[in-house]
Order: sequence, then C-alpha cells, then structure tokens
Amino acid sequence: MAQTIDITLTTNKKEKPPENKLGFGIYYTDHMFILDYSVEKGWYDPRIVPYQPITLDPAAKVFHYGQTIFEGLKAYRTKDGRIQLFRPQKNFERLNRSNARLSIPDVDGELALQALQELVRVDQDWIPSAPGTSLYLRPFVIATQAALGVAPSTEYKFMIIMSPVGAYYAEGMNPVKIYVESDHVRAVKGGVGEAKTAGNYAAGLNAQQAASEKGYSQILWLDGVQRKYIEEVGSMNVFFKIDGTVYTPSLNGSILAGITRDSIIHMLKSWDIPVVERPITIEELYEAGANGTLEEAFGTGTAAVISPIGEMNWQDKPLVIRDGSTGELTAKLYDTLTGIQNGDIEDPYGWTV
Ligand code: PMP
Repeated sequence: MAQTIDITLTTNKKEKPPENKLGFGIYYTDHMFILDYSVEKGWYDPRIVPYQPITLDPAAKVFHYGQTIFEGLKAYRTKDGRIQLFRPQKNFERLNRSNARLSIPDVDGELALQALQELVRVDQDWIPSAPGTSLYLRPFVIATQAALGVAPSTEYKFMIIMSPVGAYYAEGMNPVKIYVESDHVRAVKGGVGEAKTAGNYAAGLNAQQAASEKGYSQILWLDGVQRKYIEEVGSMNVFFKIDGTVYTPSLNGSILAGITRDSIIHMLKSWDIPVVERPITIEELYEAGANGTLEEAFGTGTAAVISPIGEMNWQDKPLVIRDGSTGELTAKLYDTLTGIQNGDIEDPYGWTV
C-alpha cells in the first residue's frame, strides 16, 4: 500500500551545472529522501526535504564499525521526454540482502521504490538530456545510534541522494589497462563481498592507488585463498569471450551480484550466444590469450555499463587483448543495453520502469 511521503520543497533552488561538465558524483540535486528507524517505531517518518547536511553524534556506529550499506542506479530521460529507471526493484532486493548481512533491519522495497520515484519526480528538471548523461541515484543506510559497544545499532537512517552524471565515454569507448592484484584481496567467502557495504570499497583503495601510479586504470581482483580464481574488476563484474563462449565467474559468496551482470547474461541467452558461469583461473585466461582463443574481455556495472579490457598485467606478464581494440560483441552489448536504458531501443525484456 502506498504510504504518505511528506514533502518540503526548497525555497532556494541551486543553479544547474553545464551538461558537458557533470563528471561523476560532483553535483547534487535540490532534494533528498530520509526515512528513520528505531527499535520501538520501526521505519518511520518518510520525507523529502531540501538537500542539506545531516547532524550525527560523533559516537554514531556508522563511524566506528562501518554498519552501512548502499545502492547505485540511474534515471534516464528518453528522447520523447519520459523518465526511465532500469530494474530498480533489483536494487532494493540487493539492498535488503546487504542489510541482512550487516544486521540492518529490512527496508520495505515498495516504500523505497515509491520514495525513489517521488524524489526523481520532484527533481526531474535535474535529469540531464545530452547523449550518455543520466541522473545517478544513491540509496543508502547508516547506523546512527550513539553507542560504542560492538552490537547492531538500534537506530538507522535510510536516505536517497541524486547526482546528475556525465557521459562515461565522452571521447568514445576506450579499452582499459588492468592490473591483476596478487597481494591484497577485495573480499573473502564468508565475509561481506556479496554485500554492497563501505568496508569493501575502503579495502580496495590502497591497491587501486598503487595500480593507478603504475598506469593501470583498474584492479582485477583474485580470490582471497589461493589468488588463483578471477573475481571482479574494480567495482565491476567481469566477462571473457573465449572461443565463441562467454564466461563469467560464478557468484561464489565473495562477488557482488551485479544487476548489469544479470542483464548481460540474460541478453546473451536470448541471442543464443553460449554463456557459462563458473570459476575461472587467471592461468587459463593467460593460456587462452597465448593460444589465440581469448576474443574479448569486459567489465559490467551501473556507472560505465560496459568497459572493454584491452590489456592486463599479472606478475609482470602482460596480456594484450585484440591489440587493445573493443570487441564486436562488447560493442553490441553496450549499444543494446544503453539503448534500452535510455529509451532509444524498445525494451524487449520488461526491465524499464
Ligand atoms: N561489483 C562491485 C563490487 C560493485 O560495486 C558494483 C557496482 N554496484 C558491481 C560489481 C556492478 O553491479 P551493478 O551492475 O549492479 O552496478
């Protein structure tokens, strides 16, 4: 049942940034959504208010024990002026799986979607319309109880903020160079890799920074036990086309279940292209590279949608894929999926809202 969301509009609208200078996550819209939680009341007081700083006690648990989760998805303006979301229910299902792992109470998925739609409607003039641009939506939950005992918080805030973001490939789709990390790991089975929680990202910053300094744009993460199996690339899932079949690591407990990943698997199946989810070793990837059967490689995620991989480096051994050019299947998947998301292509899968 639809709940009443209280709306307080700003009297002081911000100036909109130019659409060719948006970048990623730099500008924020005029409003945000807040929902509070206490053990006594459950989730209460859903409201849209002017975008503003929030005040928290310095002892709030989120600052000390990282009890927090987030989501990321986009709203697109179609050429005929409609506003589209891409599979938003999937984000709220994943939000609640992350909540469960971090001992945070479930958020009502229907209320969350209603809040998201209402907030996008209130700030709809913030959705950019230049090709490749969109409004990035960031739902998140933080533990706000002021108490230093290590135990689940008794108070939380669920919030949604929104940021207009620029075209990821303003200068065309350029395959990226990837550093295969053999020391640090992102996540381990039984840990929190399957959850979209802050600590996973903090844990990756150090290796990411070192890789950037060596001239690589992303890290390829290996498994936490043997440094043998491929897990993810940066904060994207990863796919390889080897001898006509597309492979992606199976969801093993330490990999985030990407919604783009799920969509790509679905599209490949509907095009009758063989796709296999199974553990993939870095060694077999290098073997496929050496014997000429490694045809394409790409990462998938909400921000870039698809990011072709042109080169890898594992233990000082370089592996160049397709001489660093974008594969045909990679390009076709990108064009089709972004077309469905932005409304240029009719959605045959019932994904857009
Ligand atoms: N892996 C990680 C670690 C991520 O943070 C993301 C981005 N949410 C993804 C994969 C891709 O997920 P999605 O396709 O749902 O954006």
